Amino acid sequence: MIAPLFPKTLRYPVIAFLVLSLALVTASYNFSLRSGLDRLARSGSVVVAQSADRLIAQLESYRELTDLMSRHPQVAALIENRSTVPRTSEFLLRIALTTGAKEIHTLDAEGKVLASSTFDDNAQIIGTDWSQRADVMAAKTRRMGVFHSADVYGRRSYYFARSVLADDGQPQGYVVVKVNMDELEAEWRIDENVVTFFDDAGIGFVSNRLAVALMRDETIAQVPPTAFDYPLALVTTFPEYEIHHAGGHALWQFQDAAEMPKRALVISQDVPLIEMTARAFMDAEPALSDARLLAALTAAMLSLFGLGVAIFVQSRARLADRLRLEEEANSQLEARVAKRNAQLQKAQDDLIHASKLTALGQMSAGISHELNQPLSAIQNYAENAKKLIELGRDPDARENLTLISEQTQRMGRIIHNLRGFARKETEPLERVNVADVLEASLGLAAQRAVSEGIVFKVDTITDAWVDAGHVRLQQVIVNLLSNAMDALGDSAVKEISVSLTRRRGQVQLVIADTGPGLADIDRAFEPFYTTKEIGASKGMGLGLSISYGIIGSFGGLISVENLEGSGAAFTVTLPALTLQEAEE
Ligand code: ADP
Repeated sequence: MIAPLFPKTLRYPVIAFLVLSLALVTASYNFSLRSGLDRLARSGSVVVAQSADRLIAQLESYRELTDLMSRHPQVAALIENRSTVPRTSEFLLRIALTTGAKEIHTLDAEGKVLASSTFDDNAQIIGTDWSQRADVMAAKTRRMGVFHSADVYGRRSYYFARSVLADDGQPQGYVVVKVNMDELEAEWRIDENVVTFFDDAGIGFVSNRLAVALMRDETIAQVPPTAFDYPLALVTTFPEYEIHHAGGHALWQFQDAAEMPKRALVISQDVPLIEMTARAFMDAEPALSDARLLAALTAAMLSLFGLGVAIFVQSRARLADRLRLEEEANSQLEARVAKRNAQLQKAQDDLIHASKLTALGQMSAGISHELNQPLSAIQNYAENAKKLIELGRDPDARENLTLISEQTQRMGRIIHNLRGFARKETEPLERVNVADVLEASLGLAAQRAVSEGIVFKVDTITDAWVDAGHVRLQQVIVNLLSNAMDALGDSAVKEISVSLTRRRGQVQLVIADTGPGLADIDRAFEPFYTTKEIGASKGMGLGLSISYGIIGSFGGLISVENLEGSGAAFTVTLPALTLQEAEE
């Protein structure tokens, strides 16, 4: 089964992380968008202010021209009938050509055209009544009158009108200067952002995008389009847009407007001097894509972090799984070992049972063989003694009785041996010097050794005090020595090395021979295990097992090993008494 990405217990932390990540991504998007749009709004304000300044500066010279012309003697001369229309018109044309004004007109006190820079092309203009035009009406109140309009070709013009004052301070005529906006705009077209000046009718009058000029946005209109002198057929509708709020700003979203950015931050500024509102349409796309980029980066970083945590958690989980599996495998192994141990224990118990039966068999064979011999001898001696008594040979019969007595003694010895094996020693221990016991034991063995050509090599110390039983310890040592001598029967080299040492709180006695070694070393201390002919007077396979018990009762240990080459070495180890303990 494929492991789940996260363990169940981590479900809530994972959900919390996802929610937090979502919140962080949204926050970073909002933060970036807000600061991007704030920046855009600031630069929009600068753009709009610069555009307004530029337009005002461009119009200012014509405003001043209008002011100057209103006080020009040639204009006054015409109004006061001291000059002719053609002459003044000629003069006006010259001024228009040198200043770049589209047209310059002089009006009489009623507001009718007296002279015009266009007189040569359009003589009918003379006498046209402009008294109702907004600029002329404003000029009547001695202000600088302004007016804007478009002709049937869509050419937009801006007008300045100023009264020509008589000596009594009353308006006696007017000067009107017309400026062509298309020519002024021409130098703006390179601007990156769309900037348009809208009039009170919501019509884009000046714009750095030709297509936006004469578009009407009725949502901002304060007066109907007829308030100005526009050919209505040329006024188009401003592109549709929806307003969305993002990053604390209102964004205009245009559907299909070739000239407009898709999403624009619109910065407006009133320009009272020309009675218009300037609007800069700042492209919000870079701020939006910056915000999207930052959000994507944040998401990527969070994903990386999440992935890192996931990998860490996964590896921890896998480690835990592995440990669990190992633990399971261990406990299975332990169970198998325990089962195998039980089987082994049973096999061992069976074996012990079998070897007990074998030992019992051997023991009965040994005992019956040992006892049978003296018994049959006793029977023979008894039969003979009976016959000798019948024959009156009493001395011979007495001899037989002596022999019978000897045989019963022998039987007694055998039984004593058996009792020794079965007996549990309870005698108290005493302080014994192993060196003394060894010396006595060697003394007992010396006679046989000499007769069988066996050499003892003894390396001993003087003080080797232990807690033991003197007689029983001697029994063990004598048994070991006689076993060694038994083993040397057919050996070419007949040597027995005896070494007594005391080291690290222990007394150690090693008896090694140059015999053939033990045939079955694992069974050496087994009761009734013997390689000697059953019934031989030497023993019944009890010597070593009795010795083992005796040394054990002293708190020591007896062990055996086969030597390299040949021979066996028996080691008796006993806890040593300190000199102080020994003297107490
Ligand atoms: P027994 O001497 O009556 O056989 P033990 O218990 O003393 O009984 O010895 C058991 C057996 O251990 C011996 O029959 C013999 O095979 C073996 N054994 C003991 N000592 C030696 C030895 N020094 N070298 C070789 N075999 C030995």
